[in-house]
Amino acid sequence: MMSSLTDPVTADTFDVVVVGAGAGGLASAVRAAHGGASVLVLEAADVCGGATAWSGGWLWAPRSMLARAEGVDESLDDVKAYLRAALGDDYDEGRTDAFLRTAPEMIEFFHTRTALKFVPGSRIHDVYGDLPHAGTGNRSAGAKPVNARRLSRSVRRLLRGQLYETSFLGMGIMAGDDLGGFLAAARGDLKGLWHCTWRLGLAPDRPRAAPTRDASWSTAAR
Ligand SMILES: Cc1cc2nc3c(=O)[nH]c(=O)nc-3n(C[C@H](O)[C@H](O)[C@H](O)COP(=O)(O)OP(=O)(O)OC[C@H]3O[C@@H](n4cnc5c(N)ncnc54)[C@H](O)[C@@H]3O)c2cc1C
Repeated sequence: MMSSLTDPVTADTFDVVVVGAGAGGLASAVRAAHGGASVLVLEAADVCGGATAWSGGWLWAPRSMLARAEGVDESLDDVKAYLRAALGDDYDEGRTDAFLRTAPEMIEFFHTRTALKFVPGSRIHDVYGDLPHAGTGNRSAGAKPVNARRLSRSVRRLLRGQLYETSFLGMGIMAGDDLGGFLAAARGDLKGLWHCTWRLGLAPDRPRAAPTRDASWSTAAR
């Protein structure tokens, strides 16, 4: 629950204090609370989400359970070779190893132990596609959209709204299947057009998505 602190907080009031309620902060808070710690999240804004709330919700996390579920089992050396080429002098072996070890753990934890589900970035290519060992899919994961109308009003009030300029009439369309669906519709693809029709709430027996500035039932780690 989001509230202003009235009682003084001392060094041992909470096990973990997280500053910032974006993906980084909230992921840390959830993981710590799941491990049994008492957690305080401090957020400067009057809504949660930070830049994360405006993002597409896609994250680069190679060698995850989502990739393996699609039959892709890449070698660690291939992924490291790509990072070495992309990062050049900034490449750090220790940090790279830590990231590549914990990113799949993070995906598995949230996907199997929390309400946040991911969809595989099966067809999302690595950004630097001309580098050696660049991936052509399955190294990314996207936050699966949730229907924010199923959340209570008090929780919805805490969510940062979509950035209107990067949305479709205020509706986020970058997460989960939406990205592919809307891109396909732009090419005139029938399945894509059906997806858009459904998302705009125009199809029969489908939940309305309410494309307004405040409505977002497509959320990243929000
Ligand atoms: C339009 C857009 C699209 C993007 N798409 C992608 C994408 O698809 N994939 C990707 O990987 N990245 C993407 N990014 C980048 C990504 O969103 C950010 O790198 C990521 O969200 C940063 O997460 P964070 O938790 O570190 O910070 P944030 O999500 O910004 O959260 C920081 C929080 O800390 C709070 N805060 C700051 N200072 C204080 C303080 N002193 N006290 C208390 N609270 C404080 C802020 O108010 C904020 O809520 C995108 C960004 C944008 C804007």
